[in-house]
Amino acid sequence: MPFVIHGLPVSQGIAIGRAHLVSHALLEVGHLLIAPRHVDSEISRLEDAAAKVRFELRALKEAPTAAQSEVSAFVDLHTMLLDDPMLVSNASSLIRERRCNAEWALVQQMESIVDDFDNIDDPYLRERKADVIQVVERLLKALLGHPSHVASRRGKTDPDMDTIVVAHDLSPADTIHFKDNQISGFVTDVGGATSHTAIVARSLGIPAVVGLRHIRHIARDDDIIIIDGTRGVAIIDPDERVLEEYRLRRSSFDLERNKLKRLKANRAATLDGLEISLQANIELPRDVPGVKDVYADGIGLFRTEFLFMNRDTLPNEEEQYEAYRSVAKAMGGKPVTIRTLDIGADKALTIGGPRKEANPALGLRAIRYCLAEPQMFLTQLRALLRASLHGKVKILIPMLAHAHEVDAALAAIENAKNQLRAEKIKFDETIQVGGMVEIPAAALALGVFVKRLDFLSIGTNDLIQYTLAIDRSDEAVAHLYDPLHPAILRLIAQTIQTGAKAGVPVSVCGEMAGDKTFTRLLLGMGLQQFSMHPTQILSVKQEILRSDSTDLALKVGKLLRLDEPEKIREAVEKL
Ligand code: PEP
Ligand code: MG
Repeated sequence: MPFVIHGLPVSQGIAIGRAHLVSHALLEVGHLLIAPRHVDSEISRLEDAAAKVRFELRALKEAPTAAQSEVSAFVDLHTMLLDDPMLVSNASSLIRERRCNAEWALVQQMESIVDDFDNIDDPYLRERKADVIQVVERLLKALLGHPSHVASRRGKTDPDMDTIVVAHDLSPADTIHFKDNQISGFVTDVGGATSHTAIVARSLGIPAVVGLRHIRHIARDDDIIIIDGTRGVAIIDPDERVLEEYRLRRSSFDLERNKLKRLKANRAATLDGLEISLQANIELPRDVPGVKDVYADGIGLFRTEFLFMNRDTLPNEEEQYEAYRSVAKAMGGKPVTIRTLDIGADKALTIGGPRKEANPALGLRAIRYCLAEPQMFLTQLRALLRASLHGKVKILIPMLAHAHEVDAALAAIENAKNQLRAEKIKFDETIQVGGMVEIPAAALALGVFVKRLDFLSIGTNDLIQYTLAIDRSDEAVAHLYDPLHPAILRLIAQTIQTGAKAGVPVSVCGEMAGDKTFTRLLLGMGLQQFSMHPTQILSVKQEILRSDSTDLALKVGKLLRLDEPEKIREAVEKL
């Protein structure tokens, strides 16, 4: 039976493929009520999972390994726990009594067992708690699907069917792995439209829908799934008629995208001759070919934190230098704006484990983190400065709110320069330093920033998050994430105007810059520099080629005086 679920569209296009369920086991378990007629089959599902795990454990024991005796000991222990009636049969009783799903029953049962372990004095026995949890994780994976090894999927499925990742949640670090794998799209239960996970999807140019709430439980491995990343819909198990319809839509979407390719070599200029710079956002050096393919005018945002993810050690100066140098060189003299580490919130480092913060988006993030870790910051700045000799590198500082933060960042840059000078290592002495305007305080007190910095870049993703007080990665408040809120429009327009008056160039590098529905609005505010995913550059260029900047400035001037959301929306549509 086809099943249609609506969520948040985060990356355009149509993908059709087979589901590949990705688990983070314990975290993912939801509570479902089972109809009385399904209770027996739910219990069988749990028993089948137990049989599967028993088989896996036996295979592990039989596989030749150097650590044969250790493996054998833990396998015996895990098999014993699996066969203990406390676990699987008590969970089965729970399914019958409470008519709940097997995953939920299992986790309830596990929690009551591990609570008892906590009260045991014997440290050896207390530590067996971890083994109980591991056995339950194995069972959950058998029930839910498979662990998060997307790579293992490659080449396994039929060649006509692409792979669609289905997960409860994906971190930006998970998603960046997709750059190595043939993934055609993904769908998740949670997430917001400007979460970094969504941003990576757009950078990959693959369709994605987030905030689908229960898709991870509804979809089964190898189900056929259609993702409509433009409308925010996922269809599980579509019938042949629906499949045909979506194959057609996919072809016409691809056709439109291909048509845009003829604009590649055109200058981005408005009808009245205003030249607009269209630059690219990247996460890793390997994104550069995509940037060059669309003839971008430079790199407006290199999110360097992605170099620091999915690893147990920090990249050292040489490794960072090589990454920055390769991008600078490949761009052949076009600007390459490298943002210093914006770690924190949803972009956590693997190193050191997660920090416990009540409000990570308001915590030690970005420049705050770098100033608190001066050695780490210095390493990055030295690498950046050294790379500046191989192209037109600019330094961009994220998440500034205070003048003293700019001063401290500039002092750190000066310190790195002095070290290099002392070591007789050359760098571009005229390197420009800019700041992100993404905290409302910065937009409202821009004077202190324009005095100290060479350029500004508006991060609309965070500017919206912090102005409207909504977590950009939480689907529960996604309906409140509104780029057209009058407060947001005023902050952006004011920043562009103040920058122009002070002679400090301003660009927008948040997601608004790559959304063609906002191109004319931003042009009318006087924006002349946009930075976005390479896959969005041509559609934004098409809008620019159709626009008259003088006419838009007049219309947007009037629009900015409106307060009523409906009137604003109407006016934007009419631009
Ligand atoms: C932004 O906040 O708009 C931005 C470009 O930075 P990031 O999305 O990496 O936080
Ligand atoms: Mg930001």
